[in-house]
Amino acid sequence: MIKITLPDGSVKEFASGVTPHEVALSISEGLARNVISASFNGTTIETATPLTTDGSLVLYTWNDAEGKKAFWHSTSHVMAQALEEKFPGIKLTIGPAIENGFYYDVDFGDKRITDADFKDIEDRVLAIAKEKHEFKMRSASKAEALELYKDNEYKTELITNLEDGTISFCDHSTFTDLCRGGHIPNTGIIKAMKILSVAGAYWRGDEKNKQLTRVYGISFPKQKDLNDYLLLLEEAKRRDHRKLGKELELFHFSQRVGQGLPLWLPKGAALRDRLEQFLKKAQKKMGYEQVVTPHIGQKELYETSGHYAKYGADSFQPIHTPAEGEEFLLKPMNCPHHCEIYNAKPWSYKDLPKRYAEFGTVYRYEQSGELHGLTRVRGFTQDDAHIFCTPDQLDTEFKKVIDLVLYVFGSLGFENFTAQVSVRDLNNPDKYIGNIENWEKAEQAIINAAKDKGLNYVIESGEAAFYGPKLDFMVKDALGRSWQLGTIQVDYNLPERFDLTYKGSDDKLHRPVMIHRAPFGSMERFIAILLEHTAGNFPLWLMPEQVIILSLSEKYENYAKKVLNLLENDEIRALVDNRNETIGKKIREAEVQKYPFMLIIGEEEEKNGTVSVRKHGDAGKSNITMKIEEFISFIQEEVSKTVRSLEV
Ligand SMILES: [Zn+2]
Ligand SMILES: [Zn+2]
Repeated sequence: MIKITLPDGSVKEFASGVTPHEVALSISEGLARNVISASFNGTTIETATPLTTDGSLVLYTWNDAEGKKAFWHSTSHVMAQALEEKFPGIKLTIGPAIENGFYYDVDFGDKRITDADFKDIEDRVLAIAKEKHEFKMRSASKAEALELYKDNEYKTELITNLEDGTISFCDHSTFTDLCRGGHIPNTGIIKAMKILSVAGAYWRGDEKNKQLTRVYGISFPKQKDLNDYLLLLEEAKRRDHRKLGKELELFHFSQRVGQGLPLWLPKGAALRDRLEQFLKKAQKKMGYEQVVTPHIGQKELYETSGHYAKYGADSFQPIHTPAEGEEFLLKPMNCPHHCEIYNAKPWSYKDLPKRYAEFGTVYRYEQSGELHGLTRVRGFTQDDAHIFCTPDQLDTEFKKVIDLVLYVFGSLGFENFTAQVSVRDLNNPDKYIGNIENWEKAEQAIINAAKDKGLNYVIESGEAAFYGPKLDFMVKDALGRSWQLGTIQVDYNLPERFDLTYKGSDDKLHRPVMIHRAPFGSMERFIAILLEHTAGNFPLWLMPEQVIILSLSEKYENYAKKVLNLLENDEIRALVDNRNETIGKKIREAEVQKYPFMLIIGEEEEKNGTVSVRKHGDAGKSNITMKIEEFISFIQEEVSKTVRSLEV
């Protein structure tokens, strides 16, 4: 008999040789039907793998990430079979599952796959799937594996690097593939499959190697799931921040300026400024002080901070000046500069905490292939701040930072988020710097703060940085995608490296604790996420222009100006479209630009001192006529509804 421990901690006894499928069956028939993958003592196995030792078993269904991974990886075998049927003689390389679906890298030789082939391949995959072939693992000797792939230099290379005795094949139907395992029980549960795209990919990701064709696909246990996924993809395309950024004239990239270096157009700059003012105001209320530091710093500064040793070789290289031996670096982080601000004078415990904030622009080298719109760039501005406090103040400071982050999320329409507290790996105490009592205090402070603020959080052991524990927020956007935003990091390392001190009540010098925090993260990435989350319909308080005044003809120019003045007097951001165009055209263009409110004015309105109000997206609804003053109080109330209140 062997003892199997299940995730709930319960231990069950089974005869040696029991399979995960049989274990599931002993729990319930429903579970057994749904289990598609399993792991034993942390290693992925098949649901038909016999278990012969005591150990921990986890069973996965489609609803688990591991279940999806097995499902998609298994489908990649079936797709490889279909590709081989359709294009005999092609060379298969690797076919892993990815975050959404899977791919297979293929050397098509002199053949070519195009969009026109996708449907036929999908049909072939589904025809094979219907036959309910089991995925069966078997081990193979190195000689046997090399023989099977004697005409495939890619698989040969993979096999050559494997130890004899660790090589295995996966068989299904008439198809065999070199594979480590991790499959669903049989092809029958693959009910829907789509080839998403093809792209070039270098063998082993190295551009010196041959370029292969990467075929991307996805599959589902139900046709409806595939339909929903395709709709989501369409919506994501529509909301792509690179597309919206162009349409709304927010930012631009110029090859002449350089890759990954965004240029902010007037409307985008106004948007950024509004976000900055919003946060600056909140920070001021919470006792932060604004500082300004240069874009470069001496190389020695980053040697002191440790950043140079860690990132120097893979980043922008030092800047040399005509003076002998002078070397500067583009600032990759603001923290070292802020440490030196703290060091500008001696502090007593009575002066702490000090909270220094800066919208600091930093530069990090990213490979050109990694660059993506505003989410991966080479120069970006962090809404950075560093809090220097005593270990006893950590608790209160952490709670305040969480308050600020929640205020930011709430005011920008991010309602759905979870948090992760990253703490030490207690089995590896040597990995971490700083004394144990302080670590315990800090970890407890973060957990208390998360609890106190009612966050939905998990604690991850071993995920802390070597220099301190942290709290990360994972935000879900309108399309259900997760983004990491708003990290709060405790740091014992930089105070040490920069020899930061304060005089305690005992008259002795002590080290302050440092907290790094950035609710937005970077302005660039945050605006990209916000664009995709809101599809460009920002909360009203943030819209670059809240109102557009559309005149029925040039005759009403003076009245349009009068309305504009009245709005501006009350700090409502507005503009006039006084072109000699039809009102229909003006409305259509204003809709594309996503102005939240359109005020249509003509003879009637001028005579009565009114405006005809139309809301963005309200096509088909009739306009509402209001007195100008009425509209002003109405919009002011609408704006105030979209900003959260900040309790200090
Ligand atoms: Zn496989
Ligand atoms: Zn920092």
